[in-house]
Amino acid sequence: MAARSLPVQRLLDLIAIPSVNPAFLPAGDPRAGEAQVAAFVADLGKKAGLAPEFQAVAPGRRNVLLHLSPAAPARHRVLLAPHLDTVGLPALDTLLHPRVQGGRLYGRGACDTKGCVAAMLSAVLAVAAKGPRPAETEILFLGLVDEENGQLGSRHYAAHGERGDLAIVGEPTRLEVITAHKGDVWLQLKTSGRSAHGATPQLGRNAVHAMARVVDALETDYRAELNRRSHPLLGSPTINVGAIAGGTQPNIVPNECVISIDRRTLPGESEAGVRREITRLLRAKGLKATFDNLRLSPCHPLETDPGLPLVRQLCRAAGRTRTRGVHYFCDAAPLAEGGTPSVVFGPGDIAQAHTSDEWISTASLERGTAILEKFLRGLP
Ligand SMILES: [Zn+2]
Repeated sequence: MAARSLPVQRLLDLIAIPSVNPAFLPAGDPRAGEAQVAAFVADLGKKAGLAPEFQAVAPGRRNVLLHLSPAAPARHRVLLAPHLDTVGLPALDTLLHPRVQGGRLYGRGACDTKGCVAAMLSAVLAVAAKGPRPAETEILFLGLVDEENGQLGSRHYAAHGERGDLAIVGEPTRLEVITAHKGDVWLQLKTSGRSAHGATPQLGRNAVHAMARVVDALETDYRAELNRRSHPLLGSPTINVGAIAGGTQPNIVPNECVISIDRRTLPGESEAGVRREITRLLRAKGLKATFDNLRLSPCHPLETDPGLPLVRQLCRAAGRTRTRGVHYFCDAAPLAEGGTPSVVFGPGDIAQAHTSDEWISTASLERGTAILEKFLRGLP
C-alpha cells in the first residue's frame, strides 16, 4: 500500500473517534460529544510544541485552541475554525470505520467537517514544524463544538474569545472562498378555531382549514414576493413550510393548527422584518394567524467584504479570482457577529455532507491543506 499523506492519515484517525452532536443521540451514548476529538487535537498540538487551551462551552463540551505565535509580538491574528462535531450515524456504524477507496475517503465527518479539521490542523502543524512562519501574525486553530445543532461553540467564542483579522471557517466548499451565506429564521404560526362535533361542523370553526389558506398564501404569494429580491452571490431568499400539526381525529372540528416555517434570509433581512412582512401579507389577504417562537436565536446571514486584504490573499493562495456564496449556514456568521471578519473554505463538497456514504476526495483534502499552508506562510 502506498504511504498515506499526513492529512489523509489524520482524517482517518479523526473519523475513528466518534463525535456525534449529542442532539442526535440518546443521553449517555458514548459516541456523543466532542471531548475525545478535542483531546486528540490537543495532543497533536502538544507534540508539535503548541500549548493547547480549552474553552468550556457546556458540560463536557469544550472548544480546543492551539496558538502558533509569530516571531515578533503579534499584531494580527488569523483563526482557522472547523467544527468538531458531526451529524448522527446510520443504523450500521460503518461510517466510524473509515476507509480509502478509489481516491475517496469514506466515513462520518469525512467531508463535514473532519476533512477541514485534518487540513487546517495539518497546515498549522506544518508551519509550526519548520520553514517560514508569519512575522507578526498569530495563527489560532480553533476546534469548535456544536456546529451541527446550536452553534454553541462559535457563539461562545464570539462572546468570550479574542477577535481576529480573519476567521477561515472550515466547511466543504470545494476549495472556493465563501464570503456570503444566507441566514435562517425558524418560525411557528398558529391558527385558532372552535371545536365542535364532526357531525355538526357548522357549529365550529376549523383551524386546519384556516391554516390551509395561510400555507397557500406563504407558498405562493409570499414566495413570489421573495423571488423578486436578489443578492449577487446568493440569489433569492426562500420560504418553506416544513411541518404542520392540527386536529386529533376525523369526527372533531380542530380548534388549533400549527405550522413550522424555515425562512432563509439575505444580508440585511432580519427576523423582525420577516415577521412584519408575513403579518402584512396575511392581513392583506384577510387571514389570521399568530406567531410562536420555535428557536430562540436565528442564524444571521453572512456578508464579508471580498476586498479585505486577507480574503484576497486567501483567494490568491487558492487560485480563485472571485469569492462565492452558499445556501447553507455555519459557524462563520456567529464569528462575524463577534467582530471577526469570516469566510468559509475547505476541501470536499457539501453534496456529500450528512449522507449515509459520506466521503471526501483525498486529492481535494491534500490540495486544501497545501493552499492553507501556503496562505499561512504568506501572512505578514
Ligand atoms: Zn459542517
